[in-house]
Amino acid sequence: MIKLQNYIGGRLCEPAAGGYLDDIDPATGIVFAMIPDSNGVDVAAAVEAAKSAFPGWSLTSPEVRHDAMMRIASLIERDLEQLAKAESLDNGKPVSLAKAVDIPRAVANFKFYATAAMHFASESHQTAGQAINYTLRQPLGVVGCISPWNLPLYLFTWKIAPALAAGNCVVAKPSEITPYTAFLLSELCIEAGLPPGVLNIVHGTGPQAGAAIVDHPDVKAISFTGGTKTGEWIASQAAPKFKKLSLELGGKNPNIIFADCDYESMLDTTVRSSFSNQGQICLCGSRIYVERPLYDRFKGDFVERTKALRVGDPSEPDTNIGAVVSQAHMEKVLSYVDLAKQEGGTVLVGGSRIRLEGRCRDGYFIEPAVIEGLAHDCRTNQEEIFGPVVTIAPFDTENEVLEYANSVRYGLSATVWTENLSRAHRVAERLDAGIVWVNCWLLRDLRTPFGGVKDSGMGREGGFEALRFFTEEKNVCIKVDH
Ligand code: NDP
Repeated sequence: MIKLQNYIGGRLCEPAAGGYLDDIDPATGIVFAMIPDSNGVDVAAAVEAAKSAFPGWSLTSPEVRHDAMMRIASLIERDLEQLAKAESLDNGKPVSLAKAVDIPRAVANFKFYATAAMHFASESHQTAGQAINYTLRQPLGVVGCISPWNLPLYLFTWKIAPALAAGNCVVAKPSEITPYTAFLLSELCIEAGLPPGVLNIVHGTGPQAGAAIVDHPDVKAISFTGGTKTGEWIASQAAPKFKKLSLELGGKNPNIIFADCDYESMLDTTVRSSFSNQGQICLCGSRIYVERPLYDRFKGDFVERTKALRVGDPSEPDTNIGAVVSQAHMEKVLSYVDLAKQEGGTVLVGGSRIRLEGRCRDGYFIEPAVIEGLAHDCRTNQEEIFGPVVTIAPFDTENEVLEYANSVRYGLSATVWTENLSRAHRVAERLDAGIVWVNCWLLRDLRTPFGGVKDSGMGREGGFEALRFFTEEKNVCIKVDH
């Protein structure tokens, strides 16, 4: 049995209270590792370690931070294969997906922010004839990074890298459901010679370890990605303490397909944008609206393509759909298929648990589902399911589809398929979404601001936005005598 440990003050250590939680492989239902069940004592130790490291780390030159982060990036690259397997074991996703997307993105996150640290600059403003002002950007101190289970190492490093690059020391918590790659990262940080205390990783549950990070008076900022409900709670705790907050929350993203689209490209991408990572990507399109003249053709082809997806053992190279992350999550997703039926929907394909043969017979596998016949304002079309379940519906006009698309409380991302440039711009402008993809999906330039509108969150990650989030900005105003 693998025993994970916390990473505090540069050392791997047991949780203070000695308790452990189970880490379950969703593809088999078998416990493969023990996770420290950390509490406020562990978090306090991590914060102390981070505070001790801060004076040194915050004064290092950007070059020194760059070199340390690039060493970590190259160690992740070296261990890509092992990390991809670990991520799959934790999360149930196909190893091939973790190898192609998750782990390379973790490398890119460290490389991007290692170099961004070298280019981060501040502004100066001259008050004519009177003064020069310049903006001084200083690291905040100790910051907290809390991430979810769907893209474990990808999102964990997306927070940690800018925080470190800006000169902060970090106390981070991965999801208790998928902590394995975060533990392997702590081993790589030791190997890379990251100074003790600069990054601390505390494992454990959200309500215990996560809440202790949010609550700690010396944690100056929280960067959180996860569900909207958890985000709401964190905001309520952090606001009275005036902590800086970045919240990347849930989504219910529309995929709008006009009849003039490049059909084959749209179909290929729509299969991916619906079911990649078992539909457990916050950016997956889960409500597909198709212009009426194309609807029947799309419905037939999309259902066929969905049927052809191979649900299987995540370790096999030809598996398209692995296991969903946990038994509880599987039950939640299946309950939404039942709800869709109660709400009058017709399940065109999928929507049931699949029992595989062999080592995965007890795993949490769901056949990807396509559902039609639902009103845009029913619960199935309003609530985040976060699994391999999409709804399809026709529309007649631009105004009508915009009303459907914008009718949810969320506003994370949207996809638009059309060859009409003016329409693309017009619709993108009117969609309530932090990112709109036109004729593509999940293309990310790390320099661009990323984040949701409405209940999908506040603050922006990506590019220099994240470095600015992790710094305090002061204006220095110098009087100039002429
Ligand atoms: P949760 O909100 O349940 O958990 C996210 C993280 O917060 C986990 O590490 C969790 O710990 C921790 N946590 C839970 N409760 C607390 C608490 N009271 N105080 C502090 N930390 C806490 O989300 P999920 O892990 O279920 O992730 C899925 C959600 O994430 C979906 O809604 C999805 O849309 C969203 N998401 C958003 C993205 C975006 O960029 N906007 C990207 C990816 C996902 P633990 O799991 O150990 O309990």
